[in-house]
Amino acid sequence: MSYARVLCVGLVGMAGHLVEVEADLSPGLPAVVLTGLPDTALHEARDRVRAAVVNSGRSWPNRRITVNLLPAALPKHGSAFDLAIAAALLTGAGELPSRPLEGVVVLGELGLDGAVRPVRGVLPMVAAAVGAGIDQVIVPLANAREATVVPGVTVRAVDSLHRLVDFVHAKGELLDPPPPAPAVPAPGPDMADIVGQELGRYGLEVAAAGGHHLALFGPPGAGKTMLAERLPSILPELDDAAALEVTSLQSIAGELPPHGGLVRRPPFQAPHHTASTAALVGGGSGLARPGALSLAHRGVLFLDEAAEIRSSTLQALRQPLETGRVVLGRANGTTRYPARVQLVMAANPCPCASPAGDQHCTCTPLVRRRYLARLSGPLLDRIDIRLTLPPLTAAQLLTVTTPATPSAVVAERVVKARAAAAARWTEGGWRVNAEVPGSQLRQKPWRLPTADTAELKKALDMGLLSARGFDRVLRLAWTIADLDGLGRPARDEVMEALQLRTGDRHG
Ligand SMILES: [Zn+2]
Repeated sequence: MSYARVLCVGLVGMAGHLVEVEADLSPGLPAVVLTGLPDTALHEARDRVRAAVVNSGRSWPNRRITVNLLPAALPKHGSAFDLAIAAALLTGAGELPSRPLEGVVVLGELGLDGAVRPVRGVLPMVAAAVGAGIDQVIVPLANAREATVVPGVTVRAVDSLHRLVDFVHAKGELLDPPPPAPAVPAPGPDMADIVGQELGRYGLEVAAAGGHHLALFGPPGAGKTMLAERLPSILPELDDAAALEVTSLQSIAGELPPHGGLVRRPPFQAPHHTASTAALVGGGSGLARPGALSLAHRGVLFLDEAAEIRSSTLQALRQPLETGRVVLGRANGTTRYPARVQLVMAANPCPCASPAGDQHCTCTPLVRRRYLARLSGPLLDRIDIRLTLPPLTAAQLLTVTTPATPSAVVAERVVKARAAAAARWTEGGWRVNAEVPGSQLRQKPWRLPTADTAELKKALDMGLLSARGFDRVLRLAWTIADLDGLGRPARDEVMEALQLRTGDRHG
């Protein structure tokens, strides 16, 4: 036999496609030809596969070898095809029987010594294989646990080409995936660590309950970062579908720890304010990788020093925040990643960043206005809650005696409030108040009595509030009512919401 075929999977964004790796060996000048739109990494595969085969003690077939990856039109990248290429080549050369790998998807990068190394994106690849009717996969040992997350497939692992060859010859066994990771992950930072800062804690709770974007203004040391980092700790666990998406994205980005399983906690991403647009939104040369925005999908994107971020970068966030997904144009096609995030922005009130806050600020009012105006164009209007945090003084730190409420307690209130909102919006399919369209809130049966929204209308008429802002206050009012266990917001909740929205709530 001089022809063989082994199955593999190629990824475009989150979507996997079954790829057939064909090997044909014919008499002629010894050479290896790769066809089927391979990128640079795939050309390197040729050299890796040869070294791995030889260093695994197999002889390299001295014939003309053609390796073809089908479908040809599918852009392919990365090193996950190595193992399938080696298997197809050895089978075509008559070194291996073909039957044991029939209908099996084989994934893995080869080291020059013949070791099988982990690859990115194994979870979405295995999910795609199962979707295409495959029920057996062979994956690198370090990726085995993420592969077992996909139901309906038998996962076996390899650590070397040698082991795969022995298995196909029925001389040895493949490896079993490692047992599932402990169900309880290490606890992250907790709300109990935050001293004082009542306003910040309250804003965080409302943000978590309604899925609202949040902006924190205040001098350095006011605890903006501490608060933001603790938002995931009061968000509910990810449901099955969300957990699969989040784990797939981390797998593609190579951020899933070796032997990592399903990610159940909402992610937290805090890119530096000097990060490039590609790092934030996604991209990179050739293959479009997910950026911080997609890695924060179903979790929290924290932009610290937001006023220092380049305006073109802030501008690039605008569309994805609105649509919940990133679309990256590439020469060989378009790549899409989900990006439904809860945004937390933090900024100093002015460029001098006096730690004592307003008292010692040396900036003119014009400079202060210009500084924050950098945010207002692209993003600030999309943010429901704006808080101005006071500087924390030593006296405050010393007088606080009661311990702060821990995250677990706050998270319970958040879950209750979210359940009330989800029950109310079942018809529209919205899960949190932040997703509800404004038109829905302004019409029956959800329209609030005129007496309760009078102040809101006044703010709109006076130009203190945009039309979009008007709707955002309504959403916030519903969240506050949900947290308080009320059936619907009344005047008090609307006023509270207006203050959270306009930043008039000072701590
Ligand atoms: Zn200043």
